[in-house]
Amino acid sequence: MQFCPKCGGLMLPKQIKEGPVLVCNACGYATKGAKLEEYKVVKPAEREEMVTVIEEEAKPALPTTRAKCSKCGHDTAYWWLRQTRAADEATTRFYRCAKCGHTWREYS
Ligand SMILES: [Zn+2]
Ligand SMILES: [Zn+2]
Repeated sequence: MQFCPKCGGLMLPKQIKEGPVLVCNACGYATKGAKLEEYKVVKPAEREEMVTVIEEEAKPALPTTRAKCSKCGHDTAYWWLRQTRAADEATTRFYRCAKCGHTWREYS
């Protein structure tokens, strides 16, 4: 996770024409962060199949899916993928609880 240098808000990955950037969830500050390799933009096909988009929560840049938080029991979480460099290694999927912010990972 990265935080906004201006207001301390959570920085979310976003894909724009020039490439991936991190955009502040609170004030909209955008930066080309140094840790962009942590985020992989989800292909549209995968997104349609696996993700339920919640209209009221359209503000965060991350897609959401049904996943149960082990901390508070909430059943909706933001998720993103992190591709490791070695091709034979598993893709790691990260989840962040939409309610309490608890973050965990899962190997596919
Ligand atoms: Zn900010
Ligand atoms: Zn939670």
